[in-house]
Amino acid sequence: MLQKSFDSKTEEKWQKRWQEEGTYSFDASSEKPLYSIDTPPPFTSGELHMGHVLSYAYFDFVARYKRMNGYSVFYPQGWDTQGFPTETKVEKKYGKLPPLEFRKRCVEFTGEMIAKMKESMTKMGYSPDWKYQYRTMDPEYHKKVQLSLLQMHRKKMVYRAKHPVYWCTRCRSALAKTDTEDVERSTLLNYFIFTGPKGEPLEIATSRPELMPACVAVMFHPEDERYKHLAGKKIKTALGKEVPAIADKDVLKDFGTGLLMVCTFGDKMDVIWSYRHKLPVIESIAPWGKMQNTGIVDGMNVEEAKKTIIEMLKEKGKLVKQEQLAQTIKLHDRCKHPVEFVQSYQWFADITKHRDEIKKLAEKIEWVPSFGIHYLYDWADSVEWDWVISRQRIFGTPIPFYTCEKCQSVLPCDEDELPFSPERAKEHTCKCGEKMKPETDVCDCWVDSSITPLVIADWPEIKNPDLYPSSLRPQGVEIVRTWAFYTIYRSGLALTGKPPWKTILLNGNVLAPDGKKMSKSLGNVIQPSELLSQYQTDALRQWAAMSGAMAKDRPFSFEDIKFAKSFLNKWWNGARFIETALAGYSAGKKPHLKKVDKWMLERLNQVAEQATEAMEKYEFHSAVKLLQNFFWHDVCDDYLEYVKYRVYGEDAEAKNAAQHVLHTVLYDFVKLMAPFTPHISEELYTEMFGGKEGKTVNYASWPKPSERHAGDHLEVEELRVLVSEARQHKASSKLSQAKWLSKVSITLPKPMHSELVEEFKNIARIKEVKMSEGEFAMDFSEAKPVEE
Ligand SMILES: [Zn+2]
Ligand SMILES: [Zn+2]
Repeated sequence: MLQKSFDSKTEEKWQKRWQEEGTYSFDASSEKPLYSIDTPPPFTSGELHMGHVLSYAYFDFVARYKRMNGYSVFYPQGWDTQGFPTETKVEKKYGKLPPLEFRKRCVEFTGEMIAKMKESMTKMGYSPDWKYQYRTMDPEYHKKVQLSLLQMHRKKMVYRAKHPVYWCTRCRSALAKTDTEDVERSTLLNYFIFTGPKGEPLEIATSRPELMPACVAVMFHPEDERYKHLAGKKIKTALGKEVPAIADKDVLKDFGTGLLMVCTFGDKMDVIWSYRHKLPVIESIAPWGKMQNTGIVDGMNVEEAKKTIIEMLKEKGKLVKQEQLAQTIKLHDRCKHPVEFVQSYQWFADITKHRDEIKKLAEKIEWVPSFGIHYLYDWADSVEWDWVISRQRIFGTPIPFYTCEKCQSVLPCDEDELPFSPERAKEHTCKCGEKMKPETDVCDCWVDSSITPLVIADWPEIKNPDLYPSSLRPQGVEIVRTWAFYTIYRSGLALTGKPPWKTILLNGNVLAPDGKKMSKSLGNVIQPSELLSQYQTDALRQWAAMSGAMAKDRPFSFEDIKFAKSFLNKWWNGARFIETALAGYSAGKKPHLKKVDKWMLERLNQVAEQATEAMEKYEFHSAVKLLQNFFWHDVCDDYLEYVKYRVYGEDAEAKNAAQHVLHTVLYDFVKLMAPFTPHISEELYTEMFGGKEGKTVNYASWPKPSERHAGDHLEVEELRVLVSEARQHKASSKLSQAKWLSKVSITLPKPMHSELVEEFKNIARIKEVKMSEGEFAMDFSEAKPVEE
């Protein structure tokens, strides 16, 4: 017997039982075709946010759908554990610690965070096999990352070099462009007087006067008539330093005075220009953020230096004017500190050399939606430098090399040293005679996560070739430029030569209901845990399916989740009616189907077909909407009403046919919804159908269309119109729908089948119907309520 209502206690019951019974265990020896998912390892912050909920629900739908379609689904779950935010939190908790101790605390802390997140994921009804869990901080994982770097180094794809890199002076670490965010801010544009070759004054505008001591050239556009004559001449800066004047096509004629100073390094263009024109480098900002090599402002921080130089030049009469300037600057996304360019020894992976090969390999993957590949193209085309893979932090995968501080040569560690760690390093002497030092830098976390498809396939020994490439990589669209790009480059191009997945499925982000990005400072963050306590898991999962317009950001909709919750009630109540109606039903007999029965079965066929098509295309929003509409309207509003008189009537044959259809429709519907709403589906499957196809709905077969009834289907559509007109008449006459009416006259273009006329009388409760041919009309003038 079904309970009165379907609640979260029932959901928890199933979550527990699925875990206990190992429902989602992957059977490596299965004969079934394999379907593998390279799931995103979330960063272990301890919290699942709405973006996770959406994206994890998304591929959980796929996993469940594939299981019901006869696949053996390999669905591991990993954790991206290492990085700045954890270090910051652990430092706050324990203060500064020696590296080994600090790392131990980080591992401990991360373990707690994982436990919290795992619990939330279980509450969402996700179905990974936890046996195949991986954590990027584990020695086994380090080993694989390090081996991958040794292999890439052998292929000359990984190298160490001195190069200006994005740098956070607060965190004292190199950053990738992807660790930075652009912000608009207003600053002062200062106009200073420089001196031309003939002693003439030249005005130059700059927003970074503190870098004037590191000015290495003055530039102008080659077609700028005002300055053309300066090419090759010497100019004196406002501080009196002599620098060359150079023409360059990338100078903007309209900015400031059209004349600018190149400093090492004020911004990205300075880096490009200094390489292009082989200019000297003055390292004016130290890695710890203080000025150096300037002779005048050394030891000051950037803001102090700026003020000092402006004051100094103002006094000398070299400052002409100051204007407000709106500019875009880069901040370190974790600490919001302005990013500088600092020259230092770093480790690089040579992405710029391979941009075309990466694009070609990406083209061998099916992108869903197909326009998603353009995010990768855009990134591949716009990336200016090789990928800086080193970070000057502690909690990360150690970079497995030794370096010589004297001659800068590099020695890879031996493979038997893996997992490499600087604390366990061997003694090595450089060819120059100097003792070599183990590298203490660690990897950018994208180095870890760009081999997930290899790690889950047991690389470097891929024993089961079906495990690589993975069948599916689901991920957020905003990390195509990082996770997808780096994985195609590393797992694909560098390490196997094969694309890492067959299909990549992109999802968008969840915005706040007001359409803005969710953020703590705006106070518009929606917590999954709050939604769960109010609406239940199966409602939240339906919301995820409904919101899933692919690769597009969508505001969170309370309307959708409320609807999803009320749909659960509607479905549950419908199922309870059917349960009562099925009393005494025996499935053996061949039913004598009436036309309405055939109509219902044909609608089920159509819906199963359309839902299958949508699932195959990952269009979960259309699948779930289609199914909800079908059950709410066709089943509950119509069919249940049509068969009530038979269910409660005396005609055993008519009752049996109705029972047969009710049984079939609900059973198939339970299965069609199971990828979205596994809990209610499992409860109904078990309680009402006694585990017809095995113990759990998770491996029951996905419904296929049965015998078709297209002709009957159309005829019944006409009946539906008549019934609905009769219902409206009763409603507008304030009569109960149960009331019998005496007589209705109906005019139809073609005669109606006598069976349907009888059905109409029984369903609409009308004693006598007079049919005639002509333009459609219904006449209720003789329809008097019949007193019983
Ligand atoms: Zn920082
Ligand atoms: Zn050396």
